[in-house]
Amino acid sequence: MIEVNCDLCGSENHALKYEIDVSENNLRYYRYSRNIPGNEKMVGILRIVECKNCKLMFTNPRFSTDELELVYSSEKVIGGNWKDFRYLFNPNLPDEMQGVKKKTAYDSNLYQWKFDVINTYCKAPPEQLKLIDIGCGNGKFVFDAIHHGFDAVGIDLSPDRIRKGRELYNLSDDRLKCMNVDDFSETEKYDIIVMWDLIEHVESPSSLLRSLNKIAHKDTVIFALTMSIDSITYRLFKKHWNYINPTQHLNYFSHSTIKKMFEKNSFELVGVEMDNSKNKNIISLITRILVGKMNQFFFHIYSKESFLRILFRPFQRGISNERMKKRIENLYPGKYVGRYHDNFVFVAKLAEQFKIQS
Ligand SMILES: [Zn+2]
Repeated sequence: MIEVNCDLCGSENHALKYEIDVSENNLRYYRYSRNIPGNEKMVGILRIVECKNCKLMFTNPRFSTDELELVYSSEKVIGGNWKDFRYLFNPNLPDEMQGVKKKTAYDSNLYQWKFDVINTYCKAPPEQLKLIDIGCGNGKFVFDAIHHGFDAVGIDLSPDRIRKGRELYNLSDDRLKCMNVDDFSETEKYDIIVMWDLIEHVESPSSLLRSLNKIAHKDTVIFALTMSIDSITYRLFKKHWNYINPTQHLNYFSHSTIKKMFEKNSFELVGVEMDNSKNKNIISLITRILVGKMNQFFFHIYSKESFLRILFRPFQRGISNERMKKRIENLYPGKYVGRYHDNFVFVAKLAEQFKIQS
């Protein structure tokens, strides 16, 4: 675990916002660490703090670079979930988390909202636009972008995901690459840079944005999707917000801190767009809160050895208490606060004074 200064202003003065115990006592967070080989290092008290100078909210102390590498090295750690209660009471289902099904066919609806956002800012026909997806994972978006006509490539730091993506989507080595932005030559420029759910995960958003200067020209448009602490759901739920996750989320931007972060690195914010993906409505928010409450109820009964467990015996045939606890670990045990307009796409371009040399 390491201590860091504010990545936006460099200050070392910060105030504690939330203290989070990542251990077996707190399964909501421990479930991300427990599948990691050597996971005894992956537990401890993590804190989310707010910079006293610029108000950036960030995780500090946090896992070190090497530890984060472990967090992202295993598929089991991030993806995978069981969505329903059938899982708790069906002895034939495996105890492990269900892998996320990766759709390998082109689905015109899946990312349509992302392409709508891109089209609002980029008017040229896709065939004339070079797009790069930074932190592309297995390259699903790159695959869809190619279908939309873009000249698209993706880069990611995980060799496993890149290898898997090339196989899954039959993409060439030129389309999906395992590399860092810094590794590009000065002549490599892109018209569109997308970073979906990336900036909250990186150790230094500032150095990431600084390296984008290398691949941006005067008309390049950057699309950065991340959750915002200016959202209604964060204001309502604070520490119990869905996105509070100090093992993976290192940066919690507000609309104003992300604007400053862009400005610090020679960009200017030109727009903010809503995340209009599926499940972004009030009904889904309420459903998720109710499901979270039910998970919490079961968790309480089984972890506190409550006498109420007797009530569930008839449903639990063939499943031991140990297996039951393991399964409840896999379900979200805390309050589940859904995604009701808590993600935004922050759109940026090179600031006027930096355009001349490009
Ligand atoms: Zn600061």
